[in-house]
Amino acid sequence: MIIHCMYCGHTIDLSEAYDDYQGPVRCAVCKSLMMVRVENGQLRGMDAGPAAAAPAAPKAAAPAAPKAATAKAAPPAALKARPASPD
Ligand SMILES: [Zn+2]
Repeated sequence: MIIHCMYCGHTIDLSEAYDDYQGPVRCAVCKSLMMVRVENGQLRGMDAGPAAAAPAAPKAAAPAAPKAATAKAAPPAALKARPASPD
């Protein structure tokens, strides 16, 4: 049973004990942890191990548009308009 590291491509030679196996396999070269699923000597699936999962982005980091930047959008035309005189 031979698989290839999904990170560095290193050939990992698993013994026959892995012909029916589901669990973590660590690459000897890059030390990456992969979750593999082997059935009847056939590789059925390979996923990144939990240690390699990217950390979730902090929810407080969503930037809100500053309101000061859009508060000056009012047109100055109203300042010059004179009220209609009844004269
Ligand atoms: Zn590797």
